[in-house]
Formats: sequence, C-alpha cells, structure tokens
Amino acid sequence: MHHRLSEKVSHYLSDVKTDELADFLSALSHDYQSSETTDQEAEKRITQLEGIEKELKQTVSLISATLETSQEGVLVIGDDNQPVVSNDNFINMWNLNREWINNSSGRDIYEIVRVQLKQPSLLLEHLREVDAPSSATLKEYLLKDGRIIESYISHHVDAGVVWRFRDITEAKKQEEIIRFQAHHDALTNLPNRTLFGDRLSHALRKILRTDGKLSVFYLDLDGFKTINDSLGHMVGDELLVQVAKRLSDVLRDDDTVGRMGGDEFTVLLEDIEGHADVVRLAERVIDVFRAPFVLDGQELYITTSIGVSVYPGDGQTEELLLRNADIAMYKAKDQGRNNYHFFTSSLERLAKHRLSLETMLRNAVKNEEFELYYQPVLTLGDGIEAISLNGFEALLRWETKSQGFIGPDTFIPVAESTGMILPLGEWVLKAACKQARVWVDMGFPDIKIAINLSAKQFQQTNIFEMIIAAIRNAGIGFHNVALEITESMVMQNVHGSIEILSRLRERGISISMDDFGTGYSSLNYLKTLPIDILKIDRTFVKDVTESKDDRAIASSIITLGHNLDMRIVAEGVETPEQRDFLSSQGCDMVQGYYFGKPLPAKEAIAPYTNL
Ligand code: C2E
Ligand code: CA
Ligand code: CA
Repeated sequence: MHHRLSEKVSHYLSDVKTDELADFLSALSHDYQSSETTDQEAEKRITQLEGIEKELKQTVSLISATLETSQEGVLVIGDDNQPVVSNDNFINMWNLNREWINNSSGRDIYEIVRVQLKQPSLLLEHLREVDAPSSATLKEYLLKDGRIIESYISHHVDAGVVWRFRDITEAKKQEEIIRFQAHHDALTNLPNRTLFGDRLSHALRKILRTDGKLSVFYLDLDGFKTINDSLGHMVGDELLVQVAKRLSDVLRDDDTVGRMGGDEFTVLLEDIEGHADVVRLAERVIDVFRAPFVLDGQELYITTSIGVSVYPGDGQTEELLLRNADIAMYKAKDQGRNNYHFFTSSLERLAKHRLSLETMLRNAVKNEEFELYYQPVLTLGDGIEAISLNGFEALLRWETKSQGFIGPDTFIPVAESTGMILPLGEWVLKAACKQARVWVDMGFPDIKIAINLSAKQFQQTNIFEMIIAAIRNAGIGFHNVALEITESMVMQNVHGSIEILSRLRERGISISMDDFGTGYSSLNYLKTLPIDILKIDRTFVKDVTESKDDRAIASSIITLGHNLDMRIVAEGVETPEQRDFLSSQGCDMVQGYYFGKPLPAKEAIAPYTNL
C-alpha cells in the first residue's frame, strides 16, 4: 500500500509540477513512511491522501481538457529534453502522430518542425533566444506548404520549454485584404488617393538625393458625366474599369496609375530623363483612347484631358505636384480636350521641340543627311610665311529638308541622350578617316584629322577596336588621326579613360584636350592623362586683345601645356591681332575663321593644293 501510494504521488508529481503541491505531498509521504503510526492513524491518513489524489486527478483532467480544447498547438519539453505534454492540435499542425511523439526526444521534435519551415534556421535562432529560464519570444513562421504559424515559446523554471503554436494563415489573409481595401479603389483595384499620395511622397524622398526628374499626370475623362447620365451607372462603372485597365497596360511597369475618385485618374512617372519622355508618355496615353470601348454590346468613344506637372520645376511636394497637374488639366480642357497640357507652358514648347528634333534626327541617320565639314588647323612658325597646314578638324553638319542647317550644339546633346550618337559617331569616325586617305593620296602624307568624340561614345566598350578598325580600313597611318576629348568625358571614368587613351596613344594617335579652360581644368588630372595637345577654348581667345585677364589665361595655358610637354592649339582665332598675340606667347597652332571656316572637304583643301 505504501508503495502504491508513493508511486501514485510521484506519478502526479511528474505530470503536475506545481511547487506547493509537490512540497506538500513529498512531506506527507515522508511522514507516512517514517513515523510510527497506528493502523487507525494510517487509515485516516490514507483517506486524507486519497482525497488529495482525487483532487490531483481532477486537476490533471482539467489541464488536459484545457489543452485539447485550445485552438493552439501546445508542446512542453522538459529540462531533460523529453516531451512532457503535447495536444492533438500540435500533432495535427505539424503532421505528426501520437505514437511517434511518445517515442521521440525533444530534439527529434525540433528537427521535424524545423524541416517544415521555409527558413529552417529561424527555429534555432528562436530557441537560442529562449535558452535562459523565464525568457519568452513570439515569432511568425512561414511554412513550406504556405501556412503561416505564430509561435510563442517560453521557458519556465519547472515546466521546461513551453511552445504554443497558432495557425494565423487565415487571419493574415484577412489583414492583407483589409489593407488592400484601405489603399485601393474598390471598382478598379487601382491605388486610391491615399496610396497614390504615399507612392508619390516616397518617390520624392528617393529622388531628393539625385538630380532626377519625375512627373505627375492628372487625367479627367471628357464627357463622362453624359455617359453616366444617359447610359446608367453600370455602364459608367464598366467604362472606368476598362479605362483603368488600358492605362495600366500602356504605362511602364514602374509607373503608378491611381484613381482619385469619379472619372479622375492620376499617373506617377518615375525615372524620366527629360521632358521628351513625358511628352511621349502623354501622347501614348491620349492614343490608348482612340480605340472604342465596348460597353453593353455597343461601341463608345471617349477621350481624356491630361494635366502634367514635372518635378522639380513645377513643385517639390506631393501636394503641389498634384495641384499643379490638376490646374494644367483644366487648361487642357479649355484648349479643346483630348490633349495634354504642361503646367509650365514654356517647358511644353521646349519638350515638343525636342521631341520633333529627336524624330527628325532618327530619320536623318537613316537618310544620311549628315556631312562632315573641315576646318584647317595651322602650325605657327617664325613670321607669317612660316605658317603651314597641320590638318583639319572634322565638324559634323546636318542639313534638314525642312529647317536647313541645324548646328551640332543643338543636335549633339539630343543624339547623346537618345543613344543615337553611337551610330552617328561611328559614321563620323569612318568618314573622317576615309577623307584623310583621300588627302594623303593627294600628297599630304602627314595631314592630321581631328575627330571629336562624345562622352557616350567614349564609354562604349569596343571604342578602342572601333577606332583602330576605322584607321586600318581607310589605309591611313595612326599619326594621321587626333582624337578630341573633353575633361568632363574623362571625369566620368578617370581610370578607364586613362587606360584607353594610353593604348590609343601608344599606337601613335594624338590625343587633344578640347575646350580647355572651360571645364574642371584640374591640373592634377592634366598631369596624369596621356595628352599631346591642349586646345584653348575660343572664349579666352575671343577677347585676348581687349581683356588683360583673358590674355593672362591664354598665356598661362600655353606655359602650363609646354611644361607638361604638350602642344597648344588656340581655337576661334578671328583677327590678325589675336594671331600675333598667340604667336608671341609661343602658341604652337591656330584654328579659326581668320584662317578658314569649316567647309566641305573639296573646298577646305583647295587653298593648300597650289602651295
Ligand atoms: P568644338 O569641338 O569646340 O568645335 C569648334 C567649334 O568652333 C565649331 O563649331 C566651329 O565651327 C567653331 N569655330 C571655329 N572657328 C571659329 C571662329 O573663328 N569663331 C567662332 N565663333 N567659332 C569658330 P561647330 O561646328 O558648330 O561645332 C560645335 C561643337 O559641336 C563642337 O565644338 C563639338 O563639340 C561638337 N561637334 C561638332 N562635330 C562633332 C562630331 O563629329 N562629333 C561630336 N561628338 N561632336 C561634334
Ligand atoms: Ca573640337
Ligand atoms: Ca573646342
């Protein structure tokens, strides 16, 4: 009997680890075993103990009932790393069975839980956090099967590690839906005013650190009210849904389309290079309204008016950009609808002009409307008689059918920003080398052709090979070519530039630093760059006879260049006085209208053929 009781007590002790009870019971059983007792007393005690046993049984069944009715999966692992308690929810949640659990260690159970997680390492981290007694953590696990399970792990001094799991997959889904609904328009599923505003202010924060641009469109459908009133709200709603879809389809993935309410939509364009991009996208939006909408079996035409604002010019805040786009939208309506209007109209003209220039330029490359003109570069000697022809600078000319000549200062930036400079630059390279060959054959074996390179062109990976090939194919010598680069080109990638320029120079090609004095004019770079020739920018040459400062700059550049073993070309020489001053300062070469304007090849060479 003694034995039976103490066994029972220890059995309950292992199941119910309640301090007080445990203490009380062990004292009791100790008492019972050691003391000299009469049978009567013993009987009394046994009755007492059986009462306690009953209570304990109740407690245990209460605990297990609680465990089994809980929504949570519960597992308790004792400090000896053996599972103490687990409920059916736990077993089902982790696809286990009771028998397996009864024969497994805590470690086995961790392992089988771990492998079901999408990110198994999380569990270990989690367990480490609860290593210390009386610590607890709450985590979310994503399972490989897609469920989301929340786990609360706590470490109790007596019970061991208590895990509670809750399947929150549904709750999460609901949360997501509610969040989506709060930020989207119920009819079209587009971002609503709130979310659109968030995206815009986020984009503004991002762009603040760069010198980027972004644009906001404010769209309003023309005559939507009439459709709504005459055909009914159902048809009106369907139209809005279709408009939303067309807008989303036509814009780029990174652009945001939103619905402000009614028939008003907004668009956020990020990552725009310039106004030409904006014009292009606005026209694309207008275009998607050209096809009829099919509503309730009938075809319906509708147009839109768009107001455009551009950051930073038209506002720096979310509110301003939206408001100004809205204002511009009313202007678009005033001007006859079915069009777009920029908040700043001068920008609109500029953007349209640029866009048409771009289109013309594209065709010009195809139609070969380009020609190279050549301006002589002369070597100064002692006295006027000693002036001799060094070579020519090749300068690009574009003669359009509609607008006559357009200067390189106007179209080269456009060609650069659209990438058209690459085929164009390659064409210049080949044509200039071919022309050099003609002149070499005419009896100018050492003639030097100066070719301007643009920054984009210079960044091409195969630029070295392209230059070498152009020279080889033309059958001229490397000494017949000088490449004109600018400081800003080099600054974009100093190391890469030095590498390419050095390789070109090793072959015998001359490198000229163009427009010197207008850019960074960093003496440090000048020293490290492989340069043969410095070209003094014509702005300093222009006033050299009137301005003391310009005289000082010109003669300093000459001295500086000579000290670095470079030769100096002065450009834009228009008068004999300028020539004399430059000559007196030891300038090596000159170029300018005084000696010859840029002309087509035949006319350019003519003065030198009878010498
Ligand atoms: P740049 O390289 O500084 O070319 C010299 C410019 O000065 C040329 O203008 C030339 O016509 C002009 N010029 C020459 N002598 C005088 C003078 O005595 N007085 C005045 N006022 N101007 C003079 P252009 O041909 O309009 O070229 C402008 C710029 O366009 C060039 O400046 C160059 O940066 C660029 N460019 C021209 N052709 C090409 C080309 O084939 N490729 C590239 N990438 N750029 C080119
Ligand atoms: Ca030049
Ligand atoms: Ca120049």
